Amino acid sequence: MLRFTTALLALCLCGSASAGVVTVDVLDVGQGDAILIRGGGKTILIDAGDRTADPVEQLRRLGVTRFDLVVATHPHADHIGRMADVLRSFEVALYLDNGLPHTTATYQATMATIAERSIPYRTAERGTKISLGEEAMFTVLFPDSGGMLTETRSDLNSNSVVMRLDHGENCFLFTGDAEEPTEERLVGDGLGPCEVLKVAHHGSNHSSTDAFLDRVQPTYALISVGTSNRYSHPGPETLGRLSAHGSMIYRTDLSGDLRVISDGARIEVLEGTIEELDGVEVVTGPPPVPPKASPSDKAVPQKATVRAEPGSAPSAKALRKADKQARKQARRAERGTAGSVY
Ligand SMILES: [Zn+2]
Repeated sequence: MLRFTTALLALCLCGSASAGVVTVDVLDVGQGDAILIRGGGKTILIDAGDRTADPVEQLRRLGVTRFDLVVATHPHADHIGRMADVLRSFEVALYLDNGLPHTTATYQATMATIAERSIPYRTAERGTKISLGEEAMFTVLFPDSGGMLTETRSDLNSNSVVMRLDHGENCFLFTGDAEEPTEERLVGDGLGPCEVLKVAHHGSNHSSTDAFLDRVQPTYALISVGTSNRYSHPGPETLGRLSAHGSMIYRTDLSGDLRVISDGARIEVLEGTIEELDGVEVVTGPPPVPPKASPSDKAVPQKATVRAEPGSAPSAKALRKADKQARKQARRAERGTAGSVY
């Protein structure tokens, strides 16, 4: 089902807010990352999923035709698995990575495609800024001027590109697979609070330390992770730390695709499939009743909202699909896994 989470009134998707609307779609690509960000007429992709995913098809269904920026946080296959396909399938104005090479065929194919298609390439460095319209701004936080991290548990993970997106009063933090050494550097660099955290490394216990979360204080924690993955992600320790910091946790393995909508003042999180997320109409109304913390609470299926063409009713098929998703979510709740809110 489509689930709405906001502390205030639902957002308007009509774009009338002064800061415009920014959407962040965490695509369900299994055990990997692929995040689409749109706002101010700009389209940005952070990572391109695992080899087994098909982000190209997902992106096309979302209406994407070109990217102003594509970021590879680091060259592991669960982040650049389909990057070469993405670069071949869409016009890309700029490609950004951490500058660390890898030995894999996947990495080699990615770099060869950048060369073949003459895609402008740049290495990320702290302070680089990319604007999304007048009121939204991306800033690279890592790698910083302290140089690459070495002799860590995973140097490729630890040197992930970390980016912050500021949109009005809202902030998003994109962390790739950053680990504890990265977080120490970010804290040392003066990292501040940020409402929405893309949890690093699929919720691994090697990331999201208390010291890091003390600074970020995320209200929303988004975990891109595969069902029953062999790494046992997300780690129970990380889930516990996020919970202790009061974060609402959303997981692609439980919810499918995630969409976060910012109007510069308020934030809304939607869960569901691509088709549902793209067809959703957010209705204004009284604030939702905050969920009770007790895990024994039974979830009541809610009606999803489906957008109809002007002057027409939503199709019976769309309504059936929405209700089916609502029942599925309720079953998850009864199993104690629903809502991914801890
Ligand atoms: Zn990863």
